Amino acid sequence: MNTVLSKIARGISVCYSEVFPNQNTDYFELDYSGKLFLVADSYCMNPECTCNEAVLNFVQVYPRESRKADSFMIRFKLNGRGYKIHDQGKFNRCELQAIVRHFTADGTILKSLNERFKEMKEEAKEILS
Ligand SMILES: [Zn+2]
Repeated sequence: MNTVLSKIARGISVCYSEVFPNQNTDYFELDYSGKLFLVADSYCMNPECTCNEAVLNFVQVYPRESRKADSFMIRFKLNGRGYKIHDQGKFNRCELQAIVRHFTADGTILKSLNERFKEMKEEAKEILS
């Protein structure tokens, strides 16, 4: 947990799977027009912060088009009101937007991200107490 603590202290977002390792819930999977993505979700764990965001890292695992990982990263607002692109990788904005829309099309993802955000904040309180 010490690395988590130091990330909280430095204001770095922490990956959900780092705090709650579990093969079944580590990543979200996304099928998008023949491409397979793994989506890793990270959160700011500072209990005082009100950013209310998830940092989502979309990694294209199939097909692998280059040796370098094909990925992009966004800061996703947990109230569902959009996102900011953090790193768009090789994806153009249009494609990126379509992928994110597809990912969040049914409300279950948003609900799940909010639950995970809450779990992370609770855990942060434990760590810091
Ligand atoms: Zn924050």
